[in-house]
Amino acid sequence: MENLPIFLKLQQRPCLVVGGGGVASRKTQHLLAAGAKVFVVSPEIDTSLEKLKQSGQIIHMQQRYDENCLEGIELIIAATDDIALNGAIAEHAGRQNILINVVDNPELCTFIMPSVIDRSPVIVAISTGGASPVLARLLRTRLETLIPSSYGKLAALIGRFRNKVKQQFPEMQQRRRFWEHILQGPVAEMLYAGQDKNALALLEKQLEQGSPDIESIGEVYLVGGGPGDPDLLTFRALRLMQQADVVLYDRLVAPAIVALVRKDAERIYVGKARDKHALPQKEINQLLVDLAKQGKRVLRLKGGDPFIFGRGGEEIELLSENNIPFQIVPGITAASGCASYAGIPLTHRDYAQSCLFITGHLKDGSTNLNWTALVQPQQTLAVYMGTHGLEILSRELIKHGMAETTPAAIVQQGTTSEQRVYITTLKALPTIPKQHNVKPPSMIIIGDVVSLHEKLAWFKSTKVIEK
Ligand code: SAH
Repeated sequence: MENLPIFLKLQQRPCLVVGGGGVASRKTQHLLAAGAKVFVVSPEIDTSLEKLKQSGQIIHMQQRYDENCLEGIELIIAATDDIALNGAIAEHAGRQNILINVVDNPELCTFIMPSVIDRSPVIVAISTGGASPVLARLLRTRLETLIPSSYGKLAALIGRFRNKVKQQFPEMQQRRRFWEHILQGPVAEMLYAGQDKNALALLEKQLEQGSPDIESIGEVYLVGGGPGDPDLLTFRALRLMQQADVVLYDRLVAPAIVALVRKDAERIYVGKARDKHALPQKEINQLLVDLAKQGKRVLRLKGGDPFIFGRGGEEIELLSENNIPFQIVPGITAASGCASYAGIPLTHRDYAQSCLFITGHLKDGSTNLNWTALVQPQQTLAVYMGTHGLEILSRELIKHGMAETTPAAIVQQGTTSEQRVYITTLKALPTIPKQHNVKPPSMIIIGDVVSLHEKLAWFKSTKVIEK
């Protein structure tokens, strides 16, 4: 190990930044974040440093650097673009045994500024020993995705309970078991999901139980898996997918997404083809409750967003009645995913000021849509589950005043490598599935915005034009 990583306590300690540009400003902010007393020496300073000066957060020494500036200083950051000057500062620092970092010059440094992930009080610092700050930043970005943003809150909560837990469990082994349960269970998840009070109450309750082997309570994660491309998952979705004990998923969830669920999690397919649900909704609702009651972390994985034509509401009602902790993770809904990947903006200042998400799943051919509301100028329609009702959709929209020539698109298997985009008109829309083998899932977009597809399509997909 070339360098020893340590964390410096800088509260109120005098630090000097030499330089007044953007880099100096960034380093100054890092020092301020750690509570240091920062002196900036430079004849001129940029606007961001000027602001810090005005608000009294830094002391600006408006002069050229000379060795006298080091009086009383404990740490220096040299951030000038003058190589000779940086060298001189390093030499002075060496003579006086002051810690120094010379920006972009590892040889002259006695310490390195790492890339930092700040989940205070949890701090992760990454260094490549100065070899490649870019690499350190990339690594940081990766880790950022793995560490929930409220990790700090969790650490703070633990900090508050440390002594209590120590009293309760005098043996280290016991304590460790207890904390492992807490950190990987519902208490932690509640905190991440912003349910601070519940987390606190549960932690207290589990501590009261007096045994480090907490009787685990299950929980349910209702997670939106997005329209198909696994890259469109949220960080939280991925994290929960990787810690679930059991997953219930539908037909709509792309295999590439199911593949990202923790390898040894039990997988339960609950189907849901149109009109012939493999498992009736009621049974799915009950299964979620039963599995959670067995203490399992249950992932209910849905296509798109669970609250948009996803029956998410129905599934969690029963959980709530049974006092089972749950959280809901939004996903990118098909309308959004398909629109973006087909180059069709759902709204556009010149074409559409509103967009309606509707379902075209019309039972027994009967129509229960408010056609007048659908036929409005400057409005986009995004139709879910609409391929089977296309005849009615097209006929009724035209009957209620929408132009036959209104551009319309069918986006099949949107956001996946199988994506196909059919561009047509409102009138010709019903002919598409007859002429082409349109496969589910497919999204229908109707409105003038569809014409933008010609200019804005960017994602490689098969395109069929039929007007
Ligand atoms: N909760 C989901 C929608 C479920 S309804 C969401 O928010 O996206 C199912 C309908 O969604 C399908 O019939 C289809 O119209 C649409 N859909 C879902 N994924 C799709 C995809 N990848 N491409 C096109 N349409 C999709």
